[in-house]
Amino acid sequence: MMKFEEFNISKNVLRAIKEMGFEAPSPIQEKVIPTLLEGKDLVGQAQTGTGKTAAFGIPILEKLTRTKNVQAIILTPTRELAIQVAGELQKLSRFQKVQTLPVYGGQSIGQQIKQLKRGVDIVVGTPGRVLDHINRKTLDLSKIHTFVLDEADEMLDMGFIEDIEKIIQVSSEERQTLLFSATIPPAIRKLSNKYMNNPEQVTISKSEVTAPLINQMYYKVLEKNKLDSLCRLIDSENTDLGIIFCRTKKGVSELAEALQARGYRADGLHGDLTQSQRDMVMKKFRESAIDFLIATDVAARGIDVQNVSHVINYDIPQDPESYVHRIGRTGRAGREGVALTLVTPREMKHLRSIEHEIKMKIPSQNLPSVEEVIE
Ligand code: ADP
Ligand code: MG
Repeated sequence: MMKFEEFNISKNVLRAIKEMGFEAPSPIQEKVIPTLLEGKDLVGQAQTGTGKTAAFGIPILEKLTRTKNVQAIILTPTRELAIQVAGELQKLSRFQKVQTLPVYGGQSIGQQIKQLKRGVDIVVGTPGRVLDHINRKTLDLSKIHTFVLDEADEMLDMGFIEDIEKIIQVSSEERQTLLFSATIPPAIRKLSNKYMNNPEQVTISKSEVTAPLINQMYYKVLEKNKLDSLCRLIDSENTDLGIIFCRTKKGVSELAEALQARGYRADGLHGDLTQSQRDMVMKKFRESAIDFLIATDVAARGIDVQNVSHVINYDIPQDPESYVHRIGRTGRAGREGVALTLVTPREMKHLRSIEHEIKMKIPSQNLPSVEEVIE
C-alpha cells in the first residue's frame, strides 16, 4: 500500500490528512494525485465514496499561491454536495490560510457577494448560482488554475449542461480541467473532448470498490405489508444511521410520518422542502439527532455522512445505476456498510436488472419471522 508521504505534498496538508484519520490513499487518490500534481487534465471515473474529493482537493491546495483572485472552481450538482466538498477542503486546509466558499441557490446572495469581495481562493458551487455570480460580475474565473466538474453525470442529468458550458467559456484558458463521474455517457465524453486538453483517463472499477465493502441483501415483501416489513427489519438490524430511499416525494413524506408515528427518530428530505428545512434535516442526521433519513434519489445525491451503516431501498430503484448510487451512501472509504432492498413480486424484474448491472447476485433473506409479512 502507498503512503501519502510518498506524494510530493506539503507538510501542512499531510498533517491535516493525518488529523482526518486517513491512513493511506484510496485507489483513486493513488492514481489521481500524482497525475494532477503534474498539471495534466483528467477524467476520473469511480463510484461515490471512493475519496474523489481529496483526490482533487489535495492537488488544488498544492497549487495555491498568494493572490486575491479565485484560483479554483468546483461545480457540483447539489447544494448539499457543495457544502460537503467545501467542508472537506476546509478540513484539508486547516493548517493553511485558505478561503473556501460554497455558493448555492437558496442561500442569500448578498452574503455570498460580501465574502467573494473579501477574497476567496476556492469556490465550490452549483452551476446556476455560480453563473448568477458571473453575470453579476461578483465572481471572476479568468485567473483560475483548476476547474473541477464533480459528479458530472448527475449535473448533466439535472440539465446543467448549458450553464456549465457558459461557465467554462469565461474561465482562464490556462486552467487545468478535471472531470469526475460515476458513469461516462456520450454527453460527458463530448464535453471532455470539447473543453479538456488531452485528459488522462483514470477508472476505478466497481469490483475495486463497491462489492467487498457493502453487504447487500434483498427481502421479498408484499406491497400491503411494506411498512410493517420495514419496521421489522430496522428493529432487528443494528443500525447506526440509515438512509431509506423512496421513489417519490409523496412517498418520502408519508413514510417519514408513518415512522415518526411509530416512534422512530426519522425525517424526510425531498425537493419540496425549503433550503433551511433541508439544512435542518441534514444537520439533525449528521449529528445523529435522527436515526433515519428518508429521501428520494435526487435529494440524496452525493450526500456523504459519516457512519451511515445502512441504506434501505424501501422502493427498489427502477434503473440499476441509481441502485449503485444509493448503496454508495454506505460503506464509505473502507468502512463496512449494509444495503437492504425490499422487493415486491411485481418488482422482481428491477432486481434482476440491477444484478445484471452489478454483475453479482444479491442474496435473498427472510424477514425476521411474523408470518403475515411475507407471503
Ligand atoms: P466521493 O467523492 O468519491 O464520493 P468522498 O471524497 O466524499 O468520496 O469521500 C468519502 C468519504 O471517505 C469521506 O468521508 C472522506 O473523508 C473519506 N475519505 C476520503 N479519502 C480517504 C482515505 N484515504 N482514507 C480514509 N477515508 C477517506
Ligand atoms: Mg464526491
